[in-house]
Amino acid sequence: MESSVQPQSKATESAYRSFIRQNGDGERLTALRQQLEQLNTIGKRFVAAIDRFQVHRALLATLQELYSFSACSILLKGTPFELSIIPRYPLTGQFLQAMIQNIARAASVIDFPHVTAEELAAIADLDAPDDLTPSYSGTPSEATEIGDFLNIPLTVENRIIGILSLFDEHPGTFDTELLQLTTMIADYAAVALENVRLRERHMALWRAAEHERQRLELIISSMAEGLLITNAQGAIISLNSSAQHLFALAEVVLEQETPASLRHLATSTSVNWLSDLADIIDQALAGNIVMHRELIAGVTGENIPLTLSISAAPFHDTSLTAMQPIGVVAVLNDITPSKQVEKLKDEFVSIVSHEFRTPLTAIKGYTQHLIRRIERRLREARQKQQSTGSLAELPESYDLRSLNIVQSETEHLERLVSDLLDLSRVQWGELDLKYTSFYLADVLAERVRLAQVSAEQHTIFLDIQVQDSRIVADQLRVGQVFGNILDNAIKFSPPSRQVTVKLQERDDEYLISVIDQGIGVSPEYFDHIFERFYRVRNATSRQYSGIGMGLFVARAIVEAHGGRIGFSSNPGIGSTFYFTLPRVPHTSTLQL
Ligand code: ADP
Repeated sequence: MESSVQPQSKATESAYRSFIRQNGDGERLTALRQQLEQLNTIGKRFVAAIDRFQVHRALLATLQELYSFSACSILLKGTPFELSIIPRYPLTGQFLQAMIQNIARAASVIDFPHVTAEELAAIADLDAPDDLTPSYSGTPSEATEIGDFLNIPLTVENRIIGILSLFDEHPGTFDTELLQLTTMIADYAAVALENVRLRERHMALWRAAEHERQRLELIISSMAEGLLITNAQGAIISLNSSAQHLFALAEVVLEQETPASLRHLATSTSVNWLSDLADIIDQALAGNIVMHRELIAGVTGENIPLTLSISAAPFHDTSLTAMQPIGVVAVLNDITPSKQVEKLKDEFVSIVSHEFRTPLTAIKGYTQHLIRRIERRLREARQKQQSTGSLAELPESYDLRSLNIVQSETEHLERLVSDLLDLSRVQWGELDLKYTSFYLADVLAERVRLAQVSAEQHTIFLDIQVQDSRIVADQLRVGQVFGNILDNAIKFSPPSRQVTVKLQERDDEYLISVIDQGIGVSPEYFDHIFERFYRVRNATSRQYSGIGMGLFVARAIVEAHGGRIGFSSNPGIGSTFYFTLPRVPHTSTLQL
């Protein structure tokens, strides 16, 4: 709150009245004018003062027009007290000491916190304004005692803020006739000092705020992360140097002078990722926090384009009650180097998986060949047995069972290798589907047959509720998705429990459900199990093998077909995993 210098109207009025009484009615106007001019000069002196030293000068200049005195002092309340002694000419140490004792006494009788002469002596500040007092250059006084003194409280809005004291070495200096006028001058000084105090406080606060602002600016500009701040309209109002560098890398030129909204910038330039960035900013402006959203900001087609991870949050004006954000603060991270490492890792996995495929194909082919030969031999042997009437178990039937297990496990291994290969394809958006027309029921039946061979104790029940299950899809990948889900149903349910596979038709899509009576999934993991490499890690699930890749790849394949994947589960009772596939995908030109 800023105070201003105001003449104390009551004191002024009574001063006029006494002056007019003395001078008679005839000279009333002249007297009044003189009085006003005098007040105006005094007021101006104090109003112009911008620091306490200038107030001291104004005070000295005004008081010495009334009295010839040795010194004045101002004691101000506060923590700590402030005592300024303003001599008009050099004074002896004893005189100054006597002044301080007098001020301490005056303070104890005026409404003032207790203060001793010793305390005052320790904080006293001698302000000798030699430029304003010509008499200061005269011979130093030898006086050691005070002849006369005057103590006047300094008040602002009826609040005592300090004491003004006047001292002279000669007795009888301070005329009681002039007391009213002196009080009025003290009031001017009080208001001027209060204004100075407020100004100093404001300046100190401003300096602290400015210091803090510069510190923050320095921190923000040295951040390795890019920082982008928008206003409520989604226009960039501030960018740190890292963010500017990232925009420059992405070849985006920003108008510094007139910030346009990001949405506008996205439509007016041909930079695609800016509209994704505008979406993120809009989401944050709607009150949401966006975390680690990845954007490809570099030229697509490059081996590893510039990739940014962006997090954004709205910010509010704490002084406003309105919930509407006044802007968004977004952090931009260049994650291209980690993408490069990821790509290298994926390429390595891809090469190794390819290398696995060749021997696997050979194992599968030779196993099938052996199975067919043994089946033929078995048929011939059974025919012989029928003719001889023998019921003995043939050794070929053991061989056939063993080979079927080899085939089933090879299929499992092949699925893992396919998942590994697809994993990096999904990562880099390179999942190509090879559409053909086939019977979905056949694919499910074949997978169930193979699974049943190695899961002898489980009963897998296949419930086909569809007459004609023709579909246009990527047959191998559909088999891969179903195989992953069926493997999980068998793996996560105890032997002897039934696993049911259902094929149903809904409008123009198929619904495939795999129902198990296994360990189930607790609700807290529901949101995660389709994430890459995610596995539930609790006491029940720890014993099961796996790498947390199957469902991630399955979801990518199903979604690439235009289908959906999901599940419902009750821990300890069982789960139902399902996925849908359109009979004919929208993108395919193949007919059923
Ligand atoms: P993996 O089976 O190799 O661990 P998945 O991606 O296929 O990886 O599955 C991820 C996780 O989801 C599993 O580790 C398991 O915790 C949970 N899960 C998947 N299917 C089932 C199921 N039928 N019953 C219980 N938990 C399951």
